[in-house]
Amino acid sequence: MTGWSFLIVAAGRGKRFGGPPKQFEELGGLPLWAWSAGTAVKMKVAGVDQVILVAPPGMESFFEKEASTLQKEMEVKVVAGGESRKDSVLLGLRAARGKMAMIHDAARPFASTELCRRLIGKAGEVGSAIPVLPVTDALKVARDGVITASLPREDLLATQTPQAYPVEDIKNVLEEAPGKNHDEAEAWLASGRVPGWVRGDPLNFKITFPEDLEMARRMVRGAEDVKTGLGFDVHPLIPGVPLVLGGIRIPFTLGLSGHSDGDLLCHAVADAILGAAGLPDIGTLFPSSQERFRGIRSLDLLEEVAGLLHRRGYRVLSVDAVVNAQVPRLASMHGPILDSLSRVLFRGGEGSVSLKFKSGEGTGDVGKGEAMRCWAIAGIQRVGTGVGDEPGGGRI
Ligand code: MG
Repeated sequence: MTGWSFLIVAAGRGKRFGGPPKQFEELGGLPLWAWSAGTAVKMKVAGVDQVILVAPPGMESFFEKEASTLQKEMEVKVVAGGESRKDSVLLGLRAARGKMAMIHDAARPFASTELCRRLIGKAGEVGSAIPVLPVTDALKVARDGVITASLPREDLLATQTPQAYPVEDIKNVLEEAPGKNHDEAEAWLASGRVPGWVRGDPLNFKITFPEDLEMARRMVRGAEDVKTGLGFDVHPLIPGVPLVLGGIRIPFTLGLSGHSDGDLLCHAVADAILGAAGLPDIGTLFPSSQERFRGIRSLDLLEEVAGLLHRRGYRVLSVDAVVNAQVPRLASMHGPILDSLSRVLFRGGEGSVSLKFKSGEGTGDVGKGEAMRCWAIAGIQRVGTGVGDEPGGGRI
């Protein structure tokens, strides 16, 4: 599974882009090429053990300095590129230690590790692999600025990178290929070889024009749209009522008193996610002055809150909670409570809940077994524009 070199071709001069070479443009605080280097490092577990950065001639030392943090994770070699793409790739391949190479455009910052794994898998089966996508736009032919014909698209595939080849074979192919090539598959095919293929990824688009960079920046900003909220609750422990935490009934002689079922874990978690969304707390949304909320199951309220978040265009990413309780011992309830909370919070999607039980160390009302406290923190992410009703006293 080892022996892959990951080549990042960053030697272009960016003629179509205008201004400085596009691989130096900033995206989410990193130069464009560094996104691909980050992907390569993540592929260490799948057998990638060398990154080769093909830099514009004369800029090797700049790349070496920038890549120094990556050096701690993986061998990074910086080589100077050549005049053409073919020359640059060949110069990179000559520095490859691996038997196999992934050859990637620095201008595709969003190549995913999943895509790289598909390529490694396919190349393992058939020797080489390129990512392709069907062409979905209708195609026209233009000559001298005049549209003269349509082109059938049924047999056409758009090719992306990374492309996976055996190092010696692709080196020979490129050395013998006449003229220039747009990608390595072009030379591979011209030599009479047939590349294996996997489905590419529409998000792995190439940044060619300034508008592409704007789109990439919007994607990165969207991914950063994560908000955090904090929730807290305290309830007294009294005899004669059931003890419920995270929707799970816990056998004990005392229970948490409250207008609802007193489930302070659900209350703190609900307030954390409402706070993250900038919405009013559950005391406002489900006021204790309203008789219909008496004895209500708080896990149902939490589910309502999760639904409200969803309608507002958010999803819950993570929840971390601390329950401060002297009695009873709760460790055995950890798994069931986590399952119960996950079911309502993530609505079948992905997310993480963590939960800690801390004793009162014999101090204060918690330590005397007279009360429980709970703190929760939640991370939520905007996933859409959000539609639906406004929150208001008891409306949800
Ligand atoms: Mg409460």
